[in-house]
Amino acid sequence: MKTPDPHDFLAVDRDLTEEERAIRDTVRAYGAAELLPYVADWFEAGTIPDPRAVAKGLGSLGVLGMHLDGYGCAGTNAVSYGLACRELEAIDSGLRSFVSVQGSLAMTAIHRYGSEEQRQEWLPRMAAGDAIGCFGLTEPDSGSDPGSMRTRARRDGSDWVLDGTKMWITNGSVADIAVVWAATEDGIRGFLVPQGTPGYSTNVIHKKLSLRASITSELVLEGVRLPAEAMLPGAEGLKAPLSCLSEARYGIVWGAAGAARACYESALDYARDRIQFGRPIAAFQLTQRKLADMLVDVNHAMLTALRIGRLKDEGLAHHSHISFGKLANVRAAQRVAALARGMHGANGITLEYPVMRHMVNLESVATYEGTEDVHALSLGQALTGTPAFR
Ligand code: FAD
Repeated sequence: MKTPDPHDFLAVDRDLTEEERAIRDTVRAYGAAELLPYVADWFEAGTIPDPRAVAKGLGSLGVLGMHLDGYGCAGTNAVSYGLACRELEAIDSGLRSFVSVQGSLAMTAIHRYGSEEQRQEWLPRMAAGDAIGCFGLTEPDSGSDPGSMRTRARRDGSDWVLDGTKMWITNGSVADIAVVWAATEDGIRGFLVPQGTPGYSTNVIHKKLSLRASITSELVLEGVRLPAEAMLPGAEGLKAPLSCLSEARYGIVWGAAGAARACYESALDYARDRIQFGRPIAAFQLTQRKLADMLVDVNHAMLTALRIGRLKDEGLAHHSHISFGKLANVRAAQRVAALARGMHGANGITLEYPVMRHMVNLESVATYEGTEDVHALSLGQALTGTPAFR
């Protein structure tokens, strides 16, 4: 019997279809050529210098809204979308965030809850990467509990007038279109706010120590007047944004598996090459123990992602499955990144190696789209039938 491949120890590749493998390989090759050579510099600069070019490239690759049907979207299965997220996050969590926010949050909101005119107007351009979207739910005083949002939309004749502030919004200041969630007399509703609308402004959030190759912004809405057609007609109540978040969290389940893989692979290479005490550090028992722990986490994460992906493709993924995956895989990736960082010694704190970049990125990934606490509560509710959120 052959020794298992360290890069696919449990031979999970065999469980993918030919088409899924082809999509994975295409995204991997694109990432290696077009993103990986630049991403450490973007991280150091604390921005994506040319987000339109990145959007266009990802649009041409076909990953923006790739799991959606029609309107220029590829309409792939959930596993293929997950595999793309895994490849993108193996490069940097910021790039996977870009794709998640565009495809799973902004485009999904429009696809699922928008009018036919809204879909026709925005989705083909967003799929092609010609228009960038963002998704404004979180506020300075409303994070894990989005139902407490203060942003208000009130009727004025047939128009809507929005006031409020959204915080921590990925791609906010470069977005052509913001999906903004606001409280109305009839509950929470979603609105499409085009860039340039009077009263609408954005501020880039600086001094981030995590997800630096990503643009994060504040959205300010001061008496923003929108026509009646700006509202997403199908989105009623908090369950609408939460359903989009579930889609994005699904991508994180896979993405975190990618960040973990990248850290493990870097550590394995480094341990084989780095000589101390006259031997590669890979030859020491303590190093091998750490590599074994990483191997287990990386493969568990992949199996978890694939299982949830298959359930999703069968229409059987419950939101608590997604919570399971987000909690398990982000935590696994954090463990792997921390071990890998240590194994790289001093080199591990630089951008010459990906490990510390992944390690600090994962702090954001652990926080957004529901913290570990929130997903633990979601699992607790699924197990006991008793919600313990408040
Ligand atoms: P809080 O909700 O204040 O939580 C603080 C702590 O309290 C956490 O540890 C949390 O687990 C804990 N806690 C909260 N409630 C409970 C409870 N019931 N029981 C036990 N513990 C609890 N938002 C968007 O809308 N759009 C975006 O594009 C977006 N992009 C982001 C990008 C980045 C880089 C980051 C960091 C965040 C982004 N967010 C975005 C916001 C993100 O979704 C929120 O930060 C997240 O929901 C957590 O909210 P909070 O930061 O207000 O923390």
